[in-house]
Amino acid sequence: MAASMACQAVVRGLRGASTKHLFVNRNKLSRVSPRRWLNLQEYQSKKLMQDSGVTVQRFFVADTASEALEAAKRLNAREIVLKAQILAGGRGKGVFDSGLKGGVHLTRDPAVIGELAGKMLGFNLTTKQTPKEGVKVNAVMVAEALDISRETYFAILMDRSCNGPVMVGSPQGGVDIEEVAATTPDLIFKEVIDIFEGVRDDQVLRMAANLGFKGPLERQAADQIKRLYDLFLKVDATQVEVNPLGETPEGQVVCFDAKINFDDNAEFRQKAVFAMDDTAESDPTETEAAKYDLKYIGLDGNIACFVNGAGLAMATCDIIDLHGGKPANFLDLGGGVKENQVYAAFKLLTADPKVQSEPSTTAWDQTTSFSLLLSLCSRGTAEPLAMD
Ligand code: ADP
Ligand code: MG
Repeated sequence: MAASMACQAVVRGLRGASTKHLFVNRNKLSRVSPRRWLNLQEYQSKKLMQDSGVTVQRFFVADTASEALEAAKRLNAREIVLKAQILAGGRGKGVFDSGLKGGVHLTRDPAVIGELAGKMLGFNLTTKQTPKEGVKVNAVMVAEALDISRETYFAILMDRSCNGPVMVGSPQGGVDIEEVAATTPDLIFKEVIDIFEGVRDDQVLRMAANLGFKGPLERQAADQIKRLYDLFLKVDATQVEVNPLGETPEGQVVCFDAKINFDDNAEFRQKAVFAMDDTAESDPTETEAAKYDLKYIGLDGNIACFVNGAGLAMATCDIIDLHGGKPANFLDLGGGVKENQVYAAFKLLTADPKVQSEPSTTAWDQTTSFSLLLSLCSRGTAEPLAMD
């Protein structure tokens, strides 16, 4: 789950086009997950926000029920919110395989936090953004809850069609933002930012007004938006999404949820951020491939693709598809591939139980081998490899 699906839905609402990558065949479309961008848990994103002066509530993180109970007592808040930490959104309306409904619970009684956390931790939470078997919850956030009088949606993302950052907002945020984007696109507002000039005061004020903040809240929301843009630049984000960006009856503008994705190309200068990477929810093969700088995406077919160059890799997947086969993966070895990477790639492919070497797949193996040979020869790297 790279870019947040809510954000993609909003962008789709704006542009009427999917941001997902598709390999297109005349008869069918095989969907491929978007390229993996570092994606942090809510509590990690909120820590970064806090450090940039963005308003979030006080919180603790726990990985056992007793720690969660302890945190609830320590918070000493009028009301407490317990939130399952997974990378997907839609947790509020999610369901656990423990039977518990809702990945976000509000309570005034700290004593029940331990019991609720016990039904979250170690169990799978299914939301409309997770696979149907759900995602295992390894940590929960115990935070101070606040009354919310209004929920708005706000995001900043790098948008290819605008060649830079775009702010997107709606006065009707909260758990049903995808529906708002689909049914009432006129309630989605957009401000294109010139990356060289930076975000202008008139833009943040207009966005705050479009989000429906009135009187002194308008300036407060504009200030929060400005800080979120500064954070977006500082951490090399590809997306900062706050849903809901809410207002309280006491007149405070607060970021109640947080989702930040980062540009993998900036890893060299964002060491502290990338050190927070939690690969527990990632596909282990993709994580292993990334260690060797291989671009690997698992697919659901049985024919392994082993290709040198993303264009040729896509063409190979298409050719296999065109002839009625199904690729087991997309693998681009990359331009300057070295022997150890090729070795790692072979190991990954041969370890994949989906990949078959039955006689029935020989034709496809030939296609694959041909493409492999062609691509390696064209780069001058088709030398015999020492394999053990
Ligand atoms: P998700 O987007 O994964 O469903 P959210 O963090 O947005 O999770 O929480 C879902 C809903 O729970 C929010 O829209 C909001 O109404 C409520 N909520 C979340 N955090 C708080 C909080 N600190 N205080 C009060 N209500 C909250
Ligand atoms: Mg949310």
